[in-house]
Amino acid sequence: MTIAPESHSAGAARAGARRLPSTGVLDARRRPLHDLRISVTDRCNFRCVYCMPREVFGRDYAFLERHELLTFEEIERISRAALANGVRKLRLTGGEPLLRRGVEDLVARLAALRTLDGDKPEIALTTNGSALAVKAEALKAAGVDRVTVSIDSLDDALFRRMNDVQFPVRRVLAGIDAARDAGLPVKLNTVVKRGLNDGEILSLAEHFRGTGHVLRFIEYMDVGATNGWSLDEVVPSAEIVAQIHARFPLEPLAPTAPGETAKRWRYVDGSGEIGVISSVTNAFCGSCSRARLSTEGRLFTCLFASEGHDLRALVRGGATDAELTATLADIWGVRDDRYSEIRSSLTPELRADRARIEMSYIGG
Ligand code: SAM
Ligand code: SF4
Ligand code: SF4
Repeated sequence: MTIAPESHSAGAARAGARRLPSTGVLDARRRPLHDLRISVTDRCNFRCVYCMPREVFGRDYAFLERHELLTFEEIERISRAALANGVRKLRLTGGEPLLRRGVEDLVARLAALRTLDGDKPEIALTTNGSALAVKAEALKAAGVDRVTVSIDSLDDALFRRMNDVQFPVRRVLAGIDAARDAGLPVKLNTVVKRGLNDGEILSLAEHFRGTGHVLRFIEYMDVGATNGWSLDEVVPSAEIVAQIHARFPLEPLAPTAPGETAKRWRYVDGSGEIGVISSVTNAFCGSCSRARLSTEGRLFTCLFASEGHDLRALVRGGATDAELTATLADIWGVRDDRYSEIRSSLTPELRADRARIEMSYIGG
């Protein structure tokens, strides 16, 4: 069945969604939909202790079967519908996105889509960097605009302990160099967990100063039910900034875009910038413009949403592009999520109840 454009608007209006000509749909808190994070696989070659602990993600863990994964064509269709609702940026994540065979072909399909303004969507990728040395050029050629590489330590022994598969840090550093050589701007993500890698903050800052790469420290979050999160293990961003500032003086930078998650700081001596993502101590739900698409096609409107909307059923059930666009507008139009803002008011039981979706499933 084909749905006429007026039915689409009616659908959006029915659910309270407001579609503006160039910004697209707004949610119940008047937040636009600008980013779509797409998890292209739930598998990973690392077992980071805070994300896919080996005790849970062991040999017997039931990862998704191939037929359960969205195909590239299905991802393309859902992305097109998201762009029609105002999305400007697509980020591929996972699991480890570079493990998905032919991921460059998916990038090329996405790069051919257009935003509401008629531009190519910005295409970013978050990776553990293990396969970047071989993939960077092909990714750039296919249309990736920038990459974020996760690196939690420069100390090889600690890095191996944190990824828990004995992966050497020099190979990730080689991947970062390959991305730079391919012309891809690089950001680095470091999750800081108290008692594990909080001693690495200064050496990471020192190593990446002056390289042009932006290093971002992320507060350890209570995502999922497997990492045994506790507030004591969170190192507040303010502490991280104070530590770096004492050695390499910093000054705050203004945000470059509304909804930016990282608070930016520049080195006073001009040797670059860092960012801190204070998901726990300074929530940014008020400007959160991200939706997340899981590997098997569930759309989540919050990292901490307990349920996703099954878009795969819709796509495989024969929905037209207009119906998909209208459904997305409906879903976003009633969105009211703001978990990180209310986290501190929840009891540990309520928190555990809310935080069920694993980071490796939803992609961070
Ligand atoms: N495998 C890729 C990687 O590691 O970059 C992409 C997926 S990973 C789930 C995306 C990001 O989420 C990584 O930067 C990772 O460090 C971060 N992450 C995972 N678990 C986290 C947690 N509990 N709190 C904060 N960040 C987390
Ligand atoms: Fe894999 Fe990334 Fe999770 Fe580490 S953080 S286990 S690399 S998905
Ligand atoms: Fe966005 Fe949910 Fe995170 Fe708040 S808790 S910033 S609404 S994803």
